[in-house]
Amino acid sequence: MTIFHEANAIHTWLANQRGEGRSIGFVPTMGALHAGHLALVEAAREGDDCSVVSIFVNPTQFNDPADYEKYPVTIEADIRMLEEAGCDLLFLPPVTEIYPDGLETNHTYDLGALELEWEGRYRPGHFQGVCRVMDRLLSLVQPTHLYMGLKDYQQCMVVQRLLELLPEQLTTTLVPCPTRRESDGLAMSSRNRRLDPAQRTLAPLLYEVLQECRNSLRNGEPASVLQQYRQKLVDNGFRLDYLALANARDLQELDNWNEQQAAVLLLAAFCGEVRLIDNLIV
Ligand code: AMP
Repeated sequence: MTIFHEANAIHTWLANQRGEGRSIGFVPTMGALHAGHLALVEAAREGDDCSVVSIFVNPTQFNDPADYEKYPVTIEADIRMLEEAGCDLLFLPPVTEIYPDGLETNHTYDLGALELEWEGRYRPGHFQGVCRVMDRLLSLVQPTHLYMGLKDYQQCMVVQRLLELLPEQLTTTLVPCPTRRESDGLAMSSRNRRLDPAQRTLAPLLYEVLQECRNSLRNGEPASVLQQYRQKLVDNGFRLDYLALANARDLQELDNWNEQQAAVLLLAAFCGEVRLIDNLIV
């Protein structure tokens, strides 16, 4: 695996690859890698000639500075995992290579209503930061396919919207990949490392609640079903940001639902200090 730290260097190297007709599969990450990330790498290896992973803890997408400070960094283990997974190229830039003009900006991406709900509401500015880093990374890598996890469902929708906003020369296709889970159902996440043993035992309840809620929606009215499961999470010690039913495409909240409608249950809750998100298509 070749490791690049400089933006120009990776850009030139990948331009040569494209010139030779090779397709590029790209997996952007913030590191602290787990099997969920590696599943994306595997998809990139299967789908494209050249697999590229980036590890960059993006300061502009953290609305909470403490969350940024505490974000786990495990570079040496990450490099070993990527080598074992057969990744071709790792991009490991310092902040100055991604933001050469500094972190301040006046530019905003027109994400419409997508950034006002859910993660956008509870983490103001988060998706603008995601778009900034993705815009920069996409212009450097210019991938054929961009592999991202449905674990971050709203992020997938935002990045799809970003791809529509970016110049036409960029012909990247987003490939959303299924959420990888631990054997007890907890969605894999770099943040799970910060759970203490008691919290780690409690955390799978999030996915249990999503599944129970999905089943109950078949016979019940959404508002009361959702309220029942919100209460269940609170009673078990979670601090809830949201548990909601939304249209699977535009993520607008749904008050009514029938089984013909593509919808998604979205959940964000604190387990102790650690904020976890999960979702389930219904
Ligand atoms: P992160 O490092 O958390 O920014 O995640 C990098 C990429 O991995 C994003 O596209 C995430 O959606 C994806 N990802 C994170 N956790 C999982 C998971 N459990 N299953 C599948 N993809 C995931």
